[in-house]
Amino acid sequence: MQAEIITIGDELLIGQVIDTNSAWIATGLNDRGIRVKQITSVSDDAGHITEALNAAAKRANIIIMTGGLGPTKDDITKKTLARYFNVGFKRDEATLKNVERIFSRTNRPMLEINRMQADVPENCTVLLNENGTAPGMWFEFDDNVLVSLPGVPHEMKYLMQQYVYPRLQARFKMGAIVHQTILTAGLGESYLAEQIADIEDRLPAHIRLAYLPKLGNVRLRLSGYGDDLAAIEQEISRFTSEITKRLSDHVIATQDIAIEEAILNLMLANNLKLAVAESCTGGYLSHLITQHPGCSAVFLGGAVSYSNALKQRMLGVSPETLEQYGAVSQQTVEEMAKGVISHYNADYSIAISGIAGPDGGTPDKPVGTVWIAVANRDKIIARQFIFGSKRIQNIERSAVAGLALLFQLLREEVQINP
Ligand code: ATP
Repeated sequence: MQAEIITIGDELLIGQVIDTNSAWIATGLNDRGIRVKQITSVSDDAGHITEALNAAAKRANIIIMTGGLGPTKDDITKKTLARYFNVGFKRDEATLKNVERIFSRTNRPMLEINRMQADVPENCTVLLNENGTAPGMWFEFDDNVLVSLPGVPHEMKYLMQQYVYPRLQARFKMGAIVHQTILTAGLGESYLAEQIADIEDRLPAHIRLAYLPKLGNVRLRLSGYGDDLAAIEQEISRFTSEITKRLSDHVIATQDIAIEEAILNLMLANNLKLAVAESCTGGYLSHLITQHPGCSAVFLGGAVSYSNALKQRMLGVSPETLEQYGAVSQQTVEEMAKGVISHYNADYSIAISGIAGPDGGTPDKPVGTVWIAVANRDKIIARQFIFGSKRIQNIERSAVAGLALLFQLLREEVQINP
């Protein structure tokens, strides 16, 4: 079963409002085994809406539209739909009562244009919108279903959940869609692709592999489509194991989670505590970790030791090390990593010191040079990274690289089942 989503509104095309409706609807349709073929955003223009509708109806059986249902002149979806189906309008009494109820509740005078919210194309079934004045509308034509919903996200969501999903499930035989994510670190997407090229070549047409790179992590997403859910799950699971085995050391998790979440889960399962020593990341690493509820069971905290003085006072880095090797050096991050373990009584640590830029680089330590160390009480791994010239990206990449390095150390020390 294939669907298309059309979102309507000039505000989407000038970038004033981000089209979150499409992403939310696409997720919900996918979860129910309906594959989304295309998402289109169009302006509040009858010609553009009709064009998008004609094209979508050729490709998909289900079309979900949002937006342009308000009472004002710029909202023209309803009129365009009546013209599209070549029908007149009927007044929907339930919608009129709903509009009157909303106006009486807020004590506002009701205008004729508000009453007209209850006028809908004759051939639609109304989906009563108890959260707003614009009703949802369900149309059936040929073998297709077209649903038009208000653009306001919470109204759209209510109508999708209350009416649209149950009606689609009753009307169409749903297929099965299975997505499986494999989170990797340490290899770029082209290297990953090379390592698993033969597996990728063997994927049947109904299973696709996508590479989603972000800041030193690459997510591989296997998506399987078909009718038999159990059979697809089995196939996806087989390919997941094969890819995971091949990429072994680079696989962090076989779930769609962030790297810090995978680390928190692993450390929690092994009753381990983490502390961090941050210089150039200025707390960003701690922020990533503390986004996750329950992190306090693992994360003790850390030091944002930006200055040399604080590196000495909070972490015990020796003045001689700083003097001789500088703040961005293997020796300094190693002392930071060891210092934070003993000062904060942690089992594992991450220490980061680098030149985020745009200034502060030297010929032998250019902007983007970052030293990272990870440690436990017996072992330490330190590595130098040379990122780019952009400050924010350097900060983000340093934090993710620190997490990946910690995962590498944990892999050597504890049992991992990704
Ligand atoms: P209303 O009755 O409020 O006018 P409507 O159906 O006419 O509803 P729009 O006027 O198109 O909806 O949009 C109302 C508001 O909903 C927009 O200002 C915007 O904030 C939000 N919105 C519209 N479309 C989207 C979308 N695709 N994604 C996220 N938000 C949206």
